[in-house]
Amino acid sequence: MASITVQDLRKEYDAGSIVAVDDLSLEIADEEFVTVVGPSGCGKTTTLRMLAGLERATSGTIHIGDEDVTDVHAKNRDIAMVFQNYALYPHKTVFENMEFGLRMSTDLGPDERRERVRQAAEMMDIEELLADKPDELSGGQKQRVALGRAIVREPEVFLFDEPLSNLDAKLRTTMRTEIQRLQNKLGVTSVYVTHDQEEAMTMGDRIVILNDGKLQQVGRPKEVYENPVNEFVGGFIGSPSMNFIDVEASATDDGVQLSSVDGRFQYHLSSEYVQGLEQDLSGQRFTMGVRPENVYPTRSGSNKSFTATVEVLEPVGSDNYLHLDIADDFIARVDADVEPEDGDSIELTFDENHVHLFSPDTGVDVL
Ligand code: ATP
Repeated sequence: MASITVQDLRKEYDAGSIVAVDDLSLEIADEEFVTVVGPSGCGKTTTLRMLAGLERATSGTIHIGDEDVTDVHAKNRDIAMVFQNYALYPHKTVFENMEFGLRMSTDLGPDERRERVRQAAEMMDIEELLADKPDELSGGQKQRVALGRAIVREPEVFLFDEPLSNLDAKLRTTMRTEIQRLQNKLGVTSVYVTHDQEEAMTMGDRIVILNDGKLQQVGRPKEVYENPVNEFVGGFIGSPSMNFIDVEASATDDGVQLSSVDGRFQYHLSSEYVQGLEQDLSGQRFTMGVRPENVYPTRSGSNKSFTATVEVLEPVGSDNYLHLDIADDFIARVDADVEPEDGDSIELTFDENHVHLFSPDTGVDVL
């Protein structure tokens, strides 16, 4: 069993003036593929390096299966790591690069080592590259070799540190699928760090979101997308980003009216949706969040519709992005056949089930 349990894991630098990882607790199941995502400097790499044993934790514990590995040296953890820069030995051939880890970490004989390399090379479709040196390979081929080298070890855990960042967009998409297929086939527990929320969403069984060293949310991609626990997660996950409007709430006979603080927007939430919280919400300010694909054109004016001016129409093929004047950077993602001219007025609405109200003080989703 190669579950990973991280308990109150902390990493400080510079005598505590930098807290890179702030008391992180996390459970990763055996054979699970977990992606870790967050903006630059949020502590992703430091977390991964502590799991690998390349960085010593300031406090907290790491278990792999039942074993406490917090103080176990990197080479004695049954882990293989794949790096962004491939980390291949330039003077060794592909075969030697793949075999080297086996020599160091196992007492397999040469025939067994050769057979393992052959199998991994076949899996990664790099058999014809075995005699080449890394500088004869393309970026994509180097990353296949780096993956092959990780597979050869037959580790309990794979750790990936932005392995696809140096590849072009098309190759990145192909390699994402390939890594997932590989992980499914081998069933090796995997932790995959990326700054790319789309990569995190498409690859992870679950996604871990960090900000400023702190865990924000862990969950299945859909769950995190639909129910972000706070404004940071709402804004970080999803592209184009969630729209935010500063609003004030006031109770009505049958729900709550939301009015934007700058007077450009009004929307009514029904009493079914606010569930008796009318008076609690009334008079309070919130940051309302709604995703671009949840904003729809509508025909008639109602207390659930609003008029906006189209500043720019951005066609993206399958959809159009309408940039609207009702708040800064507010985008509606509509069907490609909705094509207002720039400067046109348009009547829009959204389904209240997709409206989030975040506290402006804590960012927490309150409704
Ligand atoms: P990126 O996506 O830019 O790689 P990250 O999320 O991986 O960022 P980390 O590299 O883990 O973030 O860094 C977390 C914080 O710890 C940052 O503020 C970083 O400057 C700091 N940090 C990391 N390593 C060190 C170090 N050796 N000494 C001092 N501070 C460090």
